[in-house]
This record gives sequence, structure tokens and C-alpha cells, in this order.
Amino acid sequence: MIIFVLMSVEEKIKALRAELALHNHRYYVLDEPVISDYEFDRMLSSLQELELANPEYFDPNSPTQRVGGGVTKNFETVRHDHRMYSLDNSYSKEDLLDWQARIYKLVHEPITYMCELKYDGASISLTYENGQLLRGVTRGDGLQGDEVTANIRTIKSVPLVVNAPSMERFDIRGEIIMTKSGFASLNDQRRQQGEEEFKNPRNTASGSLKLQDSAEVAKRPLTCLLYSIQGASWVIETQQQMLEQARDMGFKVPNEARMASNMEEVLAFIDYWDIHRHELPYEIDGVVIKVNELGHQQTLGYTAKAPRWAMAYKFKAEEATTILKNVVYQVGRTGAITPVAELEPVDLAGTVVKRASLHNADQIEKLDLHFGDTVVVEKGGEIIPKITSVKTNLRRDDAVSVGFIERCPECDTALVRLEGEAQHYCPNEQNCPPQIGGRIQHFISRKAMDIDGLGEETVSLMVKQGLIKDFADLYTLAVDQLIPLERMGEKSAQNLVQGVQNSIRQPFHKVLFALGIRHVGETVAQKLAKAFGTIDRLRMATEEELIGVEDIGQKIAQSLMDYFANEQNWYRIERLRAYGCQFESKEEETPSKSSEILSGLSFVVSGVFEQISREELKALIMAHSGKVVGSISGKTSYVVAGDQMGPSKRQKAEKLGIPMLSEEEFFNMIAVKS
Ligand code: AMP
Ligand code: ZN
Repeated sequence: MIIFVLMSVEEKIKALRAELALHNHRYYVLDEPVISDYEFDRMLSSLQELELANPEYFDPNSPTQRVGGGVTKNFETVRHDHRMYSLDNSYSKEDLLDWQARIYKLVHEPITYMCELKYDGASISLTYENGQLLRGVTRGDGLQGDEVTANIRTIKSVPLVVNAPSMERFDIRGEIIMTKSGFASLNDQRRQQGEEEFKNPRNTASGSLKLQDSAEVAKRPLTCLLYSIQGASWVIETQQQMLEQARDMGFKVPNEARMASNMEEVLAFIDYWDIHRHELPYEIDGVVIKVNELGHQQTLGYTAKAPRWAMAYKFKAEEATTILKNVVYQVGRTGAITPVAELEPVDLAGTVVKRASLHNADQIEKLDLHFGDTVVVEKGGEIIPKITSVKTNLRRDDAVSVGFIERCPECDTALVRLEGEAQHYCPNEQNCPPQIGGRIQHFISRKAMDIDGLGEETVSLMVKQGLIKDFADLYTLAVDQLIPLERMGEKSAQNLVQGVQNSIRQPFHKVLFALGIRHVGETVAQKLAKAFGTIDRLRMATEEELIGVEDIGQKIAQSLMDYFANEQNWYRIERLRAYGCQFESKEEETPSKSSEILSGLSFVVSGVFEQISREELKALIMAHSGKVVGSISGKTSYVVAGDQMGPSKRQKAEKLGIPMLSEEEFFNMIAVKS
């Protein structure tokens, strides 16, 4: 805790920065937080306030700068102080023994080895001066790379201020990676927002480094793993020491590295990680073996491209041979067509593989794929394996070649392929079932209209049967129409209709998000709603006005203008408006305390009331952030019971032990609590 009294503003700011950096390190590097997120956020806002009020103390390396915001149109090319070499590769024990023999020709003393994991991401060189991050540069051609400092600052595991043994300038080398779980949740988010998913963590990490908007980078779950210090003005004797020093300075240096005193031990390290690599939180594509003594490293020196004192050992991509049974085509939410190979099930890297991705038409053509082919599948960084080659010598003479489909498998519309793009699209945005289904799914999701009681299967069933063609149609659904659907009882139909009705209370920014406009995610929708207040003003906004809003760039502005230029979209908005959806921000959008009193509670309203109609009572519950549901279940919080409540309902409530409130008791509840 910081003792604030008697401190000057500058001292307070410095103390807060240091303390926040410490907690940041505990959280993102050590994985051992000692304070709650809430406390951290509170401390961060105090610092933000102080910095805002005292701009003369601005520091690009303040923890407040982690959120990004600066836009870099062109990354500057800068020369590395120390060249970034590549690594020689080996694939077998023999390769490694050859390497060892070459080393012992030049070094006539015993050598030890440092065995490290080979992190699969994008290489980065970070320069520090006066203990402060000065710049971050990509490898480029090894001599010069792109300066991406603004983006690097947003990566929380990169310390902005370090406790270095010397204030002089030095470089630290590492790899920017995305963990498997970070990658999965990023893709989850993208799926929910109807955006194309990323293919693998490595490309996503290196692509993220080159984004122009650093605020966008801040949202990507990137991590930086370090393995080398270059140009240090202090003494470092071994690679092992180097790793320890880097760790002590606050860098994230994985703990898996091990010393080996001979090749046998090196091979044991390799064998271990070849099997256990899948258990790591991030991807590796091999291991790197380094001569541990820096003195020996100096004797060995470099070839034109790589150090003689290090060797990468690349794991064999795990592959298997199987038969191609069929090719099916999936239609995504945006209409993109993905061909998928159906395979004879085969064991690969511990899982049974039945499908492989084929990416696009070019890929099929390149492989010259025929039905019934014997194919080699490989599990690389991608989540689903891919076909890498075909054993043409095993192909039957009468095998039929796989030709790409010309029409959408779901709606039979002729597919289009935009110039310069590899992907085929179904252009039938408005009527193609998976595209409609995808948009509806997004519309009803929790962060959008939050409509309960509608699963993915029910949605596609309703679309298939022509019950709905658009999310606006949800508001026309009647209980009778729903009951005939598979697995839809009267109760669930009632719940669904009620859920749809409740959703008209969702505030404007959620409705705006629910519309599923490309690139308009949750936060963007909030900012737009705040800036323009109503859908009509938003629609009339010029490009400049849009870009004038915080966080809104050219891409989003363009997407909004395209969206509003389409009459069908406008017609849909008008329908939603007619059904009662909110297209204006209410002044009291941030709910007052009393209006949140029933939040998290769900109510069943039954019977006839004296002072109020049933509909009014329901509205009252919703106005206090409660939820109205159609039927009693274990999850119901209260039943508000009026006269003539059905005996079966009463029995059910009693059986489940759901408390029943009279009209009077309900009024007391909101009055007392308010
Ligand atoms: P390559 O790209 O195949 O030439 O391999 C060289 C790259 O491997 C370097 O640029 C590093 O970014 C990366 N690498 C990953 N892990 C390590 C590590 N532990 N030591 C050295 N380089 C590594
Ligand atoms: Zn289609």
C-alpha cells in the first residue's frame, strides 16, 4: 500500500506506476496475482486521473498506456543494433551428432548445452535504454525490421520499465506468441460477431503485430517469451545465466529450459517434448539447443545466416495416411464457402481424425484431389488437420476428380469469387439459411438481445421450416406456430415468445450490436450509441463524423455506410422499431439503483390482480431489471400470485419450494428495496 499523504503529485504518480507495474508482472509474467482485478482497476483509474490532471508527467511507458490508441499508418524501417540471425535446422540424431563433431573441431574444451523450447510465433527484438522500453522491432531481413513499439507496449507481459544491471542500451530477443486458449477465445468472439475466424495462433500473432491501430492490438491476447540478451554492458557468462538475468529483470522466460552435459541428455529433452508438447499452453515447433558457454559461442561465431553455436531441432509434423471419402461444403455466416474433406477415420497425434480442411478451390486444384484418393493428413498449428499430399500411385484408374461446386449447397445460388480472393461466397445474403441462421444467432445472443429459450438447433429448424427469415420475424411468432416444432412443448413455446417480448427493453446500444453490422462489436456499438443517440442520427452521419468518434476508424465507418446504403437493412430496422425495439438512447441508460433492484431474479406472474393489470405488473418487474418467464421451474425466483391462479401452477410452485408473493408483498419488495 502506498502512503499518500505528504507526497507530491509527481511522487504519487511515480509510486502508482511502480506499484501497478509490479502487479502487472505478478499477473502476466508470474501468473501469481496478489490483488483482485477490481483493486488493480481502481489503482489504474487513480493513476489515469492524476495523469489527466497533470499532463506534464506524461510517460509513454506508464501502465496507463497499455490500452493503446495510437494509429501507425506506416511502420518505420529501422536497423537492428545487433543482427537477428536465423537458426540452422536438424531433424535427426545423426544431424545433431554431426553438429557436435563440427563444434569440437573448433572448441577443444568440454561443452555443455542449454536446451530450450522453440516457440512458434513472430520474432521480436526489444531495445531498452535507461531501463525503459525504447522500441520493439520485428526481425525483417535480420539487418533491419519494422518498428512496432506502439503495439508492443500493449502486450502486458512485456515490461515497460526494467530493473537492468546497467542503464546502458541493450537488446532482448524473443517471440511474440498467442496461447492456445487465448486464440480459442479470440475466435469464439469473432464467431459471435460474425467475423471470419483466424486459422492458427502463429499467423494471428504475427498479423496482430502489424495492425495499425494499437487499441486493436491491446485486445489480442498476445504474450512475449524471451530467450536472449544482446549487447549487454555487464558480464554474462552462459546462456543459462542469460535466461536467469532476463527473468530477474521482469521478462517472461519459460521454465522448461534444461541444461544438458552431453548429446544423450539433449536427445532425452527432445524426446520428452516431442510427446508432451501438446500439454503446453502455447505451440512450439521444435527445440533449440545452444552451446551454453558464451566464450565458446564467440569462438564458434556465425555463418552467413545462422550461429554455429545453436541448432534448432524441428519436430516432425504428425501425419497419417487415410482415404478421402467425400468433400462437403460449409457455408459460413458471411456466406464464405469452406470445402471440408471427409476421411476414413485415422489416429493422428492422439486424436481420431475424420475431417480435414481444404481451405478453398485453389487448394483442391493444387492437390489434384480425386474421390477415393489415399491422402496424407498433417496436424500443424491449425485446429483441424490438413491434407498435405496425395499418393497418386495408389489412385484407381476410374477415380473421379474433385471439382469445386458452382452453386450454394444450402440455397442453390450461383457462387461468386471476388477478384484476388481465394474464397467463394454465396451472395444470397438475405435468403441463404445458414447466413440467416447465423445472423439470428447473433441477434439473440446474451450480449445482444439476450433472448432465452432459443438454441442453435431451434433457430436452424425455424429457418428451415420457413417460420422465420429474419431476426425481425422473431417478433411475429405466436405460441401456436411454435408448438409443432420438434422438441418444442407448450411451455417452452410460451417462454420463447415471452423472451422475445422482454427483449424490446434492451437498450439502444445492445440493439445496435444485435443488428450484426460488420465490425460493429459490443464496444463500438456503445460508443456509437453514446455519440449519436439515435439510429436516425447515426444513419445520417458523414464519414468524418463517424471517424470523429473515439475508436471508430475508416474500416468501421465504411462498413456502417455500406450497411445503411442497403434498403433491406433499413426496412428491417423500421420493422424492429415498429415492434418496440429501442433505437434511441434513454437518458437514464445507466440504471439508477432502484431500477436494478430485481436484477438477477426471475418471476412468474399468474392470476388476476386488484390494483394492476397482469401486463402492467410484468412491465414493472422488467422496469426493475427483473426477468419475466412463462412457466415455473427450479430456476424461478418468485411467483407473483393473484386471484384465480391455476391449481397446477400453485402445486408446482409448492413442490419446487418457489416462494409465492401476493400483489401487496411484491409492491413492498420494490418499495422497501428501492
Ligand atoms: P527460423 O525462423 O526457422 O529460422 O528459426 C529462427 C527463429 O526461431 C528465431 O528467429 C526465433 O524467433 C525463433 N525462436 C523460437 N524460440 C527460440 C529460442 N528458444 N531460441 C532462439 N530462437 C527461437
Ligand atoms: Zn447460399
